[in-house]
Amino acid sequence: MTISLATHLISVQQRIATACRLAQRSPQEVALLAVGKTWPASLLRAAYHAGQIRFGENYVQEALGKMAELVDLPLEWHFIGPIQANKTRLIAENFAWAHSIDRLKIAQRLSAQRPPQLPPLQVCIEVNLGAEASKSGCAAADAPALAAAIARLPQLALRGLMALPEAAEPARRRQRFHELRVLLETINRIASLNLDTLSMGMSEDFAEAILEGATIVRVGSALFGPRAAK
Ligand SMILES: *Cc1c(COP(=O)(O)O)cnc(C)c1O
Repeated sequence: MTISLATHLISVQQRIATACRLAQRSPQEVALLAVGKTWPASLLRAAYHAGQIRFGENYVQEALGKMAELVDLPLEWHFIGPIQANKTRLIAENFAWAHSIDRLKIAQRLSAQRPPQLPPLQVCIEVNLGAEASKSGCAAADAPALAAAIARLPQLALRGLMALPEAAEPARRRQRFHELRVLLETINRIASLNLDTLSMGMSEDFAEAILEGATIVRVGSALFGPRAAK
């Protein structure tokens, strides 16, 4: 199991490097976030020993259990799941990043609850590019005003945008990634911000996301294997 995990990690790193070459970008511009949801702490530990330090989790309680088991390792924890108001304190206290902020109320709570002795929580705004009613994320049209408001919160460091495009054919997803990058540039211009992060691309499409400017790719099954159906 550990051997195949190390092999998968090397393979994903090589595919990231290849996509960066194609995009004429430095591989240092793209961070690999290992998405560990459903997988046990022991597997994350093996990934750390194979060189991985950034981990993404979707469920607060599951993540806290793994953090406790892995407290001896210098890992960087990113929250990437939907954020309910009653979970903001645990996120503010335990994570380095939150990618999935979709409304001001959540950002205000995270800022107020971030312990002052910790560095600011690094955050992204999740954008619902397809405007699907069933999915989380703010509407693209609302993102500039939300970004301007979040940028003023003292204990948050707004870094950029995150998207989770619907499963569609690859050309369609690449178009969504492109839209997210254009939106980031628009926000930087009209809100006079300097956002530098595009969290986009997963196991199936991280290469396309890198071609469109992704700076964080969130990869689960390509590293850890297929998740059991829920
Ligand atoms: C599960 C998940 C991922 C990783 O998905 P894979 O297809 O397994 O790579 C990335 N981002 C979010 C928000 C997720 O929930």
